[in-house]
Amino acid sequence: MTNKNLYLSRAQLVAELGRCLNCKTQPCMNACPVNCNPREFIARAKEGDFAGAVEAITRYNPMGQTCGLICPDKFCMRACTRTAIDFPINIPRVQATILEKYRTAENAAHPKLPANGKKIAVIGAGPAGIAATSELSKLGYLVTLFEGFEKIGGALNLIPDSRLPFAVIEKDWQFVNDPETIELRLNAPVDNPERLLAEGFAGVIVATGEPDGIDLGVEGEEYAVSYLDYLRRPEQYKTNGNVAVIGGGAVATDCALTAVANGAENVEMFIRRRVGDMRVTAEERKSLLDAGVDLTSMTKIKKIGMDGALITLYTCKNRLNRGRPEEIPDTTIARPGFSLVVRAIGSTAPRQADSELIIYAGDCKHGGSTIVEALASGREAAARLDAGLTKEPAAEQSPESQKS
Ligand SMILES: Cc1cc2nc3c(=O)[nH]c(=O)nc-3n(C[C@H](O)[C@H](O)[C@H](O)COP(=O)(O)OP(=O)(O)OC[C@H]3O[C@@H](n4cnc5c(N)ncnc54)[C@H](O)[C@@H]3O)c2cc1C
Ligand code: SF4
Repeated sequence: MTNKNLYLSRAQLVAELGRCLNCKTQPCMNACPVNCNPREFIARAKEGDFAGAVEAITRYNPMGQTCGLICPDKFCMRACTRTAIDFPINIPRVQATILEKYRTAENAAHPKLPANGKKIAVIGAGPAGIAATSELSKLGYLVTLFEGFEKIGGALNLIPDSRLPFAVIEKDWQFVNDPETIELRLNAPVDNPERLLAEGFAGVIVATGEPDGIDLGVEGEEYAVSYLDYLRRPEQYKTNGNVAVIGGGAVATDCALTAVANGAENVEMFIRRRVGDMRVTAEERKSLLDAGVDLTSMTKIKKIGMDGALITLYTCKNRLNRGRPEEIPDTTIARPGFSLVVRAIGSTAPRQADSELIIYAGDCKHGGSTIVEALASGREAAARLDAGLTKEPAAEQSPESQKS
């Protein structure tokens, strides 16, 4: 089902294609972590060769439609030459629209190397695991993708449906999934990657994301709900009272907008730094303004208390000292009357070192990032594992050659 608001209309698509300058230096491609080439797919679409455009988009990006809906504007769009003239081409939306309207099994199929009989395990079916699976399957491996949860998508499942319907993630997956070379096992957590090597897998890619929400480290922490719980089951926390969201990034923004959509009377975000420092796109900033979310900046949470059924936040003001927020003494105040407090200051996972046969990818390796960076990391891990598995054993040196 097509959600009209998520894609460009035919007229909007034609207009965006027409604005492209076909820049020889391809700044948009150079800015893309997966090396996708907007100049190429836009040129093909402009000529009416939509099959060619789909081929160009999906060549390096196995989740091109999902990416097109949620990719932040700091990559290709920031690099777009058109910015200096008027405003950048909305490359991600052009990409999502082309795939939504024109992708078929034929034009999205890419060449595969013959089967090599080697089995690889990928742990985690978020973007990094899906990209690794796609790449390894093209390289001729048999891939088993183990996912601990009941569905694919990883952290993407926490993004509200209004921005990213699950059907889009599923659609991208349909074009990756090749039953001849890929087996997806859902509800199949793997605790120890080493065990898979013992079971006959030639190599393992671990792409398990960052599943542990970061604590505030303050008294009364338990009265705040983690964003992981909140966004997974927002209906459980529905309230028409006041909601506080602690955090100022894209995830906190999703929490605030979800609270508004769920009927909260007032939603307020508490941000450590300045509003201008928030790590959100222009579109996200606008959505917050449109939804009437209050932004309380340069503020630190000191303590959380419970007063009957309502929650009180004890906050103080911050100032910047060499760019770092620090508390201004004697500025603590009580902010009573919240029905719900959501903690959204990030997540983490224990970092592990790669070995030759076990390679880590995506957020579990690099920390919280973006879909396109996780995809790039998954592809890179697959290429590295393949290089390790296919390299010729070093030829034994003869005594003569050692002398020279
Ligand atoms: C609310 C929210 C909004 C976001 N918005 C955006 C956005 O607008 N734009 C953007 O680019 N990025 C956004 N992101 C970030 C993006 O979703 C992540 O960077 C990306 O999903 C990371 O991919 P990953 O594959 O490394 O990890 P994840 O997506 O976290 O996937 C890890 C997968 O591994 C599985 N797993 C974990 N442990 C095991 C185990 N032991 N065995 C088997 N499976 C396991 C998990 O169930 C999960 O499916 C957002 C993230 C959140 C939380
Ligand atoms: S930078 Fe912008 S204008 Fe130039 S080729 Fe890329 S999309 Fe077109």
